[in-house]
Amino acid sequence: MSQASSRSGSSSQGRGGGIGGGYEGQGSPVPYRVGPLAYEPAVLCRCNGKACRWISWSNAQPGRRYYRCKKSRTGIDCGFFLWADEECSKWFKELLIDLRDAVWELSKKDGELDAKDMVLEAKEMEVEVKKNEVEDMVMELNAKQQEVQAKEQVVALLEARLKNKNKCIDMLAVLCMFLLLTMVVILCNGNKA
Ligand SMILES: [Zn+2]
Repeated sequence: MSQASSRSGSSSQGRGGGIGGGYEGQGSPVPYRVGPLAYEPAVLCRCNGKACRWISWSNAQPGRRYYRCKKSRTGIDCGFFLWADEECSKWFKELLIDLRDAVWELSKKDGELDAKDMVLEAKEMEVEVKKNEVEDMVMELNAKQQEVQAKEQVVALLEARLKNKNKCIDMLAVLCMFLLLTMVVILCNGNKA
């Protein structure tokens, strides 16, 4: 296919065909060597502006560069399309497709690993939160234990005071008995006299 082939000439290939944007939504497997407008000499589109140069990664045209209107994917797209490179051989296409798929597979695995990393990080944070909760609970428990110990000391003190009071009451009872006996003796003696 010559460089003069136009968009209308390749439109029969449809989605996933010759036009680079048509493959299944995955990014370019290799970074662009230059930006879409950083090439020379300039190719002008029908709007008279410099056309963007992209690389197709479709199954039909892997690795083939093409020019496209800068305003493509907007309402004022002039529809300009032009291949920059000759179509490569079937063998080369198969090799490029295999390499493209290998890179896509690797990036998919990379993405999966990233997702697993994020899950792991979230779990680690969860564990940290639980650890803090347990630490708080242990501190609360220690405080309660100290409170109980203080209360036990108060109880022991009160018990000791109660014992002292009981001793006083016992002594008072003995004294009363003694007084009563003395009075009885005095009364008996008075009666005899
Ligand atoms: Zn244009």
